[in-house]
Amino acid sequence: MNTYPLYINGEFTPAESSATLDVVDPSTADVIARVPDAGAADVARAVRTARAAFDAGPWKDATAQDRGRVLFKLADIVRRRAGALAELETRNTGKPIVESEFDIGDVATCFEYYGGLATKIHGDVIPIPDNAMSLALREPIGVAGQIIPWNYPLLMASWKLAPAICAGCTTVLKPAEQTPLTVLELASSFADAGLPPGVVNIVTGAGETAGAAIVEHTDVDKIAFTGSAEVGKTIMRAAAGTLKKISLELGGKSPNIFFADADFEAAVEGALFGVFFNQGEVCSAGSRILVQRPIYKKFLDAMVEKTRTITVGLPMDRDTKMGALVSREQFDRVRQYQEIGKLEARLAVGGGRASGAVLDRGFFVEPTIFYDVDNADRIAREEIFGPVACVIPFDTEEDALRIANDTYYGLAAAVWTRDIFRAMRVVKTLRAGIVWVNHMQPTYVEAPWGGYKQSGIGRELGRWGVEEYLNVKQVYINLSEQPIGWY
Ligand code: ADP
Ligand code: MG
Repeated sequence: MNTYPLYINGEFTPAESSATLDVVDPSTADVIARVPDAGAADVARAVRTARAAFDAGPWKDATAQDRGRVLFKLADIVRRRAGALAELETRNTGKPIVESEFDIGDVATCFEYYGGLATKIHGDVIPIPDNAMSLALREPIGVAGQIIPWNYPLLMASWKLAPAICAGCTTVLKPAEQTPLTVLELASSFADAGLPPGVVNIVTGAGETAGAAIVEHTDVDKIAFTGSAEVGKTIMRAAAGTLKKISLELGGKSPNIFFADADFEAAVEGALFGVFFNQGEVCSAGSRILVQRPIYKKFLDAMVEKTRTITVGLPMDRDTKMGALVSREQFDRVRQYQEIGKLEARLAVGGGRASGAVLDRGFFVEPTIFYDVDNADRIAREEIFGPVACVIPFDTEEDALRIANDTYYGLAAAVWTRDIFRAMRVVKTLRAGIVWVNHMQPTYVEAPWGGYKQSGIGRELGRWGVEEYLNVKQVYINLSEQPIGWY
């Protein structure tokens, strides 16, 4: 079993805190590693080195080209180590190995994108009505505290680290307590990529202690968080103490809307992929499936039939289409919602733990579909973060839009129809940060990602993502050598 230290100031270093966290393989419930449960003193040490690397150097003096090259090298290293990283990701999260391989490819692509962007960040010259020059400079915001979830561990780390490095920030990143391994493994390559000591620091630990210490620290300039809405609200409150900039990517209860004219087969597959992908542990999961009444029964039957063919299996098996949930806590939470659903709506398929000789030790659940769900039911309002779908019937376009927007969340949505006029009307009216037409879930580093309403603040990815790590400095340069002549 591996015991990992923290990664601070360019080296692996023991924590001051002697407490540790067990890291579990959720497909067997075996403890596979231990990491420090860092405390405020460890966070303070990481922030000190991030602060020094930003204020005094070496990062202060790195050029945009330098930063871009580091990111390209990181991308290369991720590709070279992809097999091992994917396997470790799967062992730690329980997700199918085939999905981890896609994730690690996306990690490399994310570093590449921001490697290219580093040399394209530039300010403005503003025409002002005077004998002077007005500039808007764009500068790195400083030390970023980055707190990430467990559903896409290394990918979420790359979504945070890449734009920060691109912008010239330094960072203290805290992975989720359940899934700290891949980012710690990657840290062993940071020096090879040319990343100077202190620029990226990795601190493992519990959210309420290590996470909170990052959020409250006076020398941290900005917090980037991805996780639950509840913790997002806690972070927003805590960040008020030092008026930190914050970006939050939170939960969702995303509608996936099917009109009767949609291509039937593609739509059925899209409904299942939208909600069951990555065991449903996806912030943009299409967990509310709205189906127009003329196809409602047939659509539900087709979904159920296909769901029965989904292979729930060991994550390392290449035929597995659904692996284990990440932890016992998450397993218990999803099991509880399965039971709530049975009281609130009708069960079409699934509804329990997935069992079988090889599955009994791990945190596996059945892909589950409830139908005739009322949008006011708890299973339709609360984020479950597991493979539980709510099918809701509707009559008209207006009904669909009313139901779709009737949620506190606003991360994502999708609409399926062959009618271009309807598609565009629906796109315009949906209150969500990401809208797919005739698909659900494809995500690209080039395009913005983030939520409306209580799904968050700010945007990640693309050129939007780097803005969150930049400050604007207005500069006025007087070109007149005459005194003002006011007094
Ligand atoms: P989940 O409930 O699915 O575990 P969370 O939103 O609790 O999702 O966790 C996402 C991340 O937020 C994790 O890295 C976790 O450690 C961290 N976290 C949890 N609580 C806090 C907190 N009070 N302050 C800062 N970070 C926190
Ligand atoms: Mg939590």
